[in-house]
Amino acid sequence: MRTLIKNGIVVTASATSHADILIEDEKIIALEANSTAAADLNFDAGGKYIFPGAIDVHTHLEMPFGGTVTADDFTSGTIAAAAGGTTCIVDYAIQTPGQSLGEALETWHRKAEGRCAVDYGFHVAITDLNENVMAEIPPLIEKGYPTFKLFMAYKGVFQVDDATLLNVLKTSGHAGGLVLVHAENGDVIDVLTKEMLAAGKVEPLYHALSRPPQAEEEAVNRFITMAELTGAPAYIVHLSDAGALGRVAEARIRGLQIYAETCPQYLFLNIGSYEEPDFGGAKYVMSPPLREEGNEEFLWSGLETGNLQVVASDHCSFNLKGQKDMGRSNFTKIPNGAPGLENRVQLVFAGGVNGGRISINKFIDLVSTAPARLFGLYPEKGTIAVGSDADLVIFDPDADFEISAATHHQNVDYNPYEGFGGKGVPRQVFSRGRLIFDEGRFVGEPGQGMFRKRRPFNGM
Ligand SMILES: [Zn+2]
Repeated sequence: MRTLIKNGIVVTASATSHADILIEDEKIIALEANSTAAADLNFDAGGKYIFPGAIDVHTHLEMPFGGTVTADDFTSGTIAAAAGGTTCIVDYAIQTPGQSLGEALETWHRKAEGRCAVDYGFHVAITDLNENVMAEIPPLIEKGYPTFKLFMAYKGVFQVDDATLLNVLKTSGHAGGLVLVHAENGDVIDVLTKEMLAAGKVEPLYHALSRPPQAEEEAVNRFITMAELTGAPAYIVHLSDAGALGRVAEARIRGLQIYAETCPQYLFLNIGSYEEPDFGGAKYVMSPPLREEGNEEFLWSGLETGNLQVVASDHCSFNLKGQKDMGRSNFTKIPNGAPGLENRVQLVFAGGVNGGRISINKFIDLVSTAPARLFGLYPEKGTIAVGSDADLVIFDPDADFEISAATHHQNVDYNPYEGFGGKGVPRQVFSRGRLIFDEGRFVGEPGQGMFRKRRPFNGM
């Protein structure tokens, strides 16, 4: 089956051009201006932009946390992804202590199998390292799982010690893997948290105050030091703080292979949100927490200059009613996380491109191309080129949007960006040549999304 998409402005990380896109089955087979190719299906893009499908390399669907499970599963989460122009996600399979990494992956494959609306892959989060687990790392890299996450925070739950960090960096680095880290100093946070609870400081704001920027900056610096010692490439997830960004910038100037992502919440929200009345601050309880107003401009400039390479969502949704409210009298009982999978692309477009902070090509790089390159999905994904998957988004830069929980596709009872508006709406979304989202409606089928093996790390 051949599909021809005509009259679009094709935008990639490196160029913007008028080109018609000819698709055969799942792949792009030709790109040319004024194509006269015969096709079974002709689609008129009407002069709108055509983007490569966005890639969200940081999601948590159907993830257990703090005695509950995230509100979005692999079906609702990937439909919301499609609605927002994201055609591939990389979720985290988290090892429970005592489990092998292979068992953790089996658990997560079972959650996702036959239920995803878009393509997906998995990182492996290591929480319990021993020699057997270490021995699993090189073969997993070969099998399509080249990325391993470690937590420097969540003491007593996910947190690993420095020896584990160093050992995983060494093993993974030699075998073509990339180590990802949640960089916050869990011991510092543990002390501050206990102090606050003892003083009766239990409201959501104290979640942020118990996790100061210094705890992040210290962990980022420690992780970079260990990456440097081992020579391994390393990636910091959800970087939130200007000071931590400074450490990354300094490491990159020295030529180290350090990469980092930030997330929309750190670009659009700030610590003031924790004071929302009626326990509304709980919506924003996530780690790292929202930072002081003004911090976001440092992150935008990090994106512009290339010290931050990726914007991912860290989508981790919990309902305000029935989940977040478990922590009404104690902020440590509020499940950490917030939704963002559906709105990431349009927020970065609105704030970045329309806000005059980044070019449209840089925008594509941040939400699609750089994630594809860093995470072993390029060039099948992350660009529009002959031979690439026909994962495409027809995007109307002039249409207005307003974000609301009343209209979003995410299966969660609030949206942290409620009332945010701007211009830029995904009109149609194609996943491997198939139209799956059309004018506000999901028209695909859960189960069409395929598991994607990813290649070993090969730089940017
Ligand atoms: Zn996360």
